[in-house]
Amino acid sequence: MSVLRKEMFHIPSGMIYLDGNSLGVLPKAAAATAAKTIEQDWGDHLIKAWNTAGWMDLPRKVGNRIAGLIGAPVGSIATGDTLSIKVYQALDAALKMRPKRRVILSDNGNFPSDLYMAQGLIETLDKGYSLKTPAPEDVMDAITDDISVVMLTQVDYRTGRMHDMKAITEKAHAAGAVMIWDLAHSAGAVPVDMTATNAEFAVGCTYKYLNGGPGAPAFIYARPDIVTGINPALAGWLGHDAPFAMEQSYRPAMSTERLRVGTPSIVQLSILDAALDAWNGVDMHDLRAASIQLSETFIAEVASRCPDLTLASPRDPHQRGSQVSFGFEHGYAAMQALIERGVIGDFRAPNIMRFGFTPLYLDQADVITAAEIMEQVMKNELWRDPKYSIKSQVT
Ligand SMILES: *Cc1c(COP(=O)(O)O)cnc(C)c1O
Repeated sequence: MSVLRKEMFHIPSGMIYLDGNSLGVLPKAAAATAAKTIEQDWGDHLIKAWNTAGWMDLPRKVGNRIAGLIGAPVGSIATGDTLSIKVYQALDAALKMRPKRRVILSDNGNFPSDLYMAQGLIETLDKGYSLKTPAPEDVMDAITDDISVVMLTQVDYRTGRMHDMKAITEKAHAAGAVMIWDLAHSAGAVPVDMTATNAEFAVGCTYKYLNGGPGAPAFIYARPDIVTGINPALAGWLGHDAPFAMEQSYRPAMSTERLRVGTPSIVQLSILDAALDAWNGVDMHDLRAASIQLSETFIAEVASRCPDLTLASPRDPHQRGSQVSFGFEHGYAAMQALIERGVIGDFRAPNIMRFGFTPLYLDQADVITAAEIMEQVMKNELWRDPKYSIKSQVT
């Protein structure tokens, strides 16, 4: 069944947006929702809105809607903060579950912030932990029985290469390690079944495929059977069992809520709640089929039109998430030339041109037009214009 629902999104005319893997487009309902939250709830109700406008329940409500998209049970997800913070919390909690072990395993394709958070936590703990980062294809072999935690991002942010969540989690568990999955490029992009996967933790963000907008809150999943054993780092008052009892000592909530920290960002959460309406009735397997069709068409069109670009993503769609990358020496300049012509992707150092596929608001015609414009840029070497080599802060 088609999952296309372009009419729910604001897509600027003349633009083909292939960057929904980095910042999703604006849902049309977002502006009115934000306006209501600001003008009515905040403006007229002020502090009362925590009770009367459902602000206090919003983080949990939104968490439950995300749970539905990643095969997680109701009540298993806490929302808030940023993904980096949630990585830190998950890693700290996971390390505490294996007090005798000292090695964290990730991979060298992981997103830098995930690795930085691990490095920072290792320094803070100061207990002789180390971080191992083999190449992604060597991760399976690196899971040995000295590993405390395996912490991986399912879909590689640069290449789209996808780890086998089930096989890696099984191997991690067989070796006695705790498993953390980062779903930054998975939630809303590929089918995920947290219950079947059986991993202890997952984290993710909501401004990529879930269209929650810049700075939208992150989420953290903890497997229900381990929740009450978690002793959270960053023990904030909203993770307390009774925040308004104002007790002197921390006593964690008896649910995943213990992984919350402080006051939730209500305006962003209300926008995210509205953005999630676009997922009502979407079967993630239909979404995946559409994503594969779009990416296969794009690869075929680009391969025939732009021989100078080399595919940097796995050729097998089942080994890829919902993005396609090409390597090109002048990739930054070529991407700027594309952007000026209305095809929006992004660039990741050193030479990756990256394109995301979001079947809720992209169709086959978009993808073919994008490839045609790429052909113009490449054939005519439009990227040689010096203005395209001026580096912006965000690439
Ligand atoms: C996008 C992304 C992040 C970004 O983290 P923030 O704290 O939300 O800025 C972290 N990790 C991965 C794997 C990502 O893809």
